[in-house]
Parts: sequence; C-alpha cells; structure tokens
Amino acid sequence: QWGRLKQKIQDSVGQSNYRNWIEPLELAEVSGGIATFQVPTSFLGNYVSQHYGDLILYQISSIDPKVRRLNFRVAANCAARPSQPDAPRTAAAVQPVRTDGALPSAPLDDRFRFETFVVGKPNELAHAAAKRVAEGGPTTFNPLFLYGGVGLGKTHLMHAIAWDLTTARPDMNVLYLSAEQFMYRFVQALRDRKMMDFKELFRSVDVLMVDDVQFIAGKDSTQEEFFHTFNALVDQNKQIVISADCAPGEIANLEDRIKSRLQCGLVVDLHPTDYELRLGILQSKLDRHREQYPDLMLNDGVLEFLAHRISTNVRVLEGALTRLFAFASLVRQPITLELTQDCLADVLRASERKVSVEEIQRKVSDHYNIRLSDMIGPKRLRAFARPRQVAMYLCKQMTSRSLPEIGRRFGGRDHTTVMHGVKRIEELRIQDAQIADDLELLRRTLEG
Ligand code: ADP
Ligand code: MG
Repeated sequence: QWGRLKQKIQDSVGQSNYRNWIEPLELAEVSGGIATFQVPTSFLGNYVSQHYGDLILYQISSIDPKVRRLNFRVAANCAARPSQPDAPRTAAAVQPVRTDGALPSAPLDDRFRFETFVVGKPNELAHAAAKRVAEGGPTTFNPLFLYGGVGLGKTHLMHAIAWDLTTARPDMNVLYLSAEQFMYRFVQALRDRKMMDFKELFRSVDVLMVDDVQFIAGKDSTQEEFFHTFNALVDQNKQIVISADCAPGEIANLEDRIKSRLQCGLVVDLHPTDYELRLGILQSKLDRHREQYPDLMLNDGVLEFLAHRISTNVRVLEGALTRLFAFASLVRQPITLELTQDCLADVLRASERKVSVEEIQRKVSDHYNIRLSDMIGPKRLRAFARPRQVAMYLCKQMTSRSLPEIGRRFGGRDHTTVMHGVKRIEELRIQDAQIADDLELLRRTLEG
C-alpha cells in the first residue's frame, strides 16, 4: 500500500524531489494513530516532516483515517547516534480542529485596539494603512501586507482592524487566524475529506487576516491551498491582510508566485521602535497602570531610563514595566532609578545593545572626519592612529570580540597592537579631557 501511496506522492512532488526525499522513506509501522517511518538520517526525517509532512499525512489518512501523526525514526544501522536508535526524531502533530460548518475566528485580544496603539515615526505608515482597512471602505489596496520584527505590533494592529470591523459591521464575516491555524484546518479538512467545505468556508469570508504567514514557508501543499484561497478572495474583491516577520520577497521557501501575489497590494513595515516611541508607549502603559495601582510613586527619569535601555521589542518593554510596578507595590516603595536597576537587572543586561565592530569603525571615522579605509589601512600618521586606537578601545569595551578578532578586523593587525591601543586610550582618557569627551559622545551615539 505504501508503494502505491508513494506513487501518488511522486505525482505531486515531481521526480527529483521524490528521489531525494520520498523514495528513501520506509513505512515501519502504523499503530495508535501514528505512522512511523524509517529514515536513513535525522536530517532527512526533519526535512521531510517539515516540507512534506502534511502531504504524506493526507495521503495516508485517505487510506487509514485513524492516522493522525507521523513519526520519523532513524534506522538503527545508520543512525547518527547509535546509542538511541529508536528515539523518535520528529513528529508532525496535528491538532484536532472542529470543521463543523461555522468557521470561528481565532479569539481577539481585548487589549489590542487602535485606542491603545501608540503611534510614532517607526510605525505611522503601518498604523495609517491599518486604519484605512479598518474603515471598511472599498478595498483600496489588496492585500495589506504588514511586516516587521518580533514584538513591534503586527498582531496588535491586526486585532485592532478586526475589532473595528466587527464592531461597526456585525454582519461582516471577518476571519482572523494565524498561518499555523490555517495549516491545521487545512490538514484536518484533508483528513476528514471535507475539502469542499473548507474551500467554501474560506471563500465565503469578507475579510481574511492571516498572521505570521512565514509559518507556511516550505509547507508545500499548505502553500498551494493558501494560494488558491488568496486568489479566489482577491477575485471577489475581498480584503486580505497578511503579516510576516520579513518582506514578502525575503521569506525563504515561499513559492515565487505567492511572493509576487503578496506584493501586489500595499507592503508596509513596522520599523524597530525608537526612543520617542518607547517613551510614548511607557507613558501610556503607566497611565493605564495607575488605575490598577492608584498610589504608585514614580520618580522622574525612570521612564526615560527604561526607554533608553530596554530593547526595541515592545513586548519586553511591557513585561519590564509590569514587573517593576508589581515589585514596587509589593515592597511599598516609590520607584526610584535604583530600585528599577535592581528589579530589572537581568532584563537590562539582556537587552544591552549589541554593537558591531563595523558600526564602531564607521562612527569613529565619521567623528574624526577620516576615511574608513584610512582607519583600517596601514598608515601610521597620528591623525589616523589615534582614531584607530579609539575605535579599538570601543570595540574592546562594547563588543564581545577578543583582541585577535578585533585586530583582524583592523586590517589584520596583531593582537598586541590592539592591546597597546586599548591601554593607550585608557591612559589618555584620564589625562586628556578632549579624548574623554569624544569617548563619551561616541559611546552614547553607538548605544542608540
Ligand atoms: P508582533 O505581532 O509584531 O510580534 P505584537 O503585536 O504581539 O507584536 O506586540 C507585542 C506587544 O507589544 C503587545 O502587547 C502589544 O500590545 C504591544 N505593542 C506593540 N506595539 C505597540 C504600540 N505601538 N503601542 C502600544 N502597544 C504596542
Ligand atoms: Mg504577532
């Protein structure tokens, strides 16, 4: 039977994929709803599970509907770690999902509204675009594609759109879900042979929002279905909103035709937060916390300190603030800078900004008005040597690079040269007020 299934899989993945990935699979056993495959290497098992897991599961469950999971195990005679040849390597788990007519949206977070979203330079475009979609007028750009790093507000904006639309137009069928949930529902429908229902349901929504679409990268059959759903909705002029952690063109293992489809609407990115936005967010969270802790005492400068020192990820910022308030109310003390540093020592350490050697070289050569090539190059003129030593010193202080590593990045200099430079600046720093000022200024611009 597996032989016949393999044949079917070959039809859908093509000759060369088949030979590389599917051919080597041996079906070892099927029991307890799990189909276990023997694979020559754990790498192959992982790859197949990731890329063809849903397809294989579909094919198998069309013969044996009891099968709900796949398991890949490395064959004993060529296992990479012979001590535990039978350890299960990967499992493409499939969560049970109801597909009984209604198509429930994933629950919306009550806090993620436009009213609670603080707008600043880094996110103003994304915010404006989201607002426009939330007004529910005729689709102006389709899809709206939001992207940006973790914790910058993508999910918040999507929920805000969904809240506004469903409040203003309760009749509207707004579906918000993560790409992962999309896949689970898809696989479920395949297994229960309810593909027609699945297609019908997804094609009947008025607004489709799929969060973290990068999740379906490399999941071939899910991508295929997503593509069809997407096209059907665009053809009907239904609004689509998508988010991802990078630009459409940069999502690895996503089919080109999908990439280009995702790009044909409006693509906007959420930039990492800057100091002003962080301060604004902290201020607005503080106002809300005041309701919860009415006698909260907060010293001047604490919010500014946090906005300076904590990373661009808003989730981290929020977590820090919540912890600080909880701690302060517990010990019944006003929040001073000192208390903040104590309470958040680990967070502060973790979010120390990582500065690169290249960044330091660039900033320092700008500061002293010399060319980068002269800083790194062999010239020994004082006008180049001093800035070079300053840069080496900052590299030692602000990065985790070793002296030999730093030397290599300064035109292949020896580590003793770097050490000498660092020592020299340490001395000058005490003797020479100008150097001390330079260092202070450079450090501050580098810390951002
Ligand atoms: P992403 O989906 O981009 O990883 P989220 O939307 O989950 O990020 O945001 C992480 C947290 O930060 C959420 O609690 C969200 O409310 C908050 N947040 C992000 N950006 C803002 C903002 N501009 N104003 C207020 N809160 C924000
Ligand atoms: Mg998110």
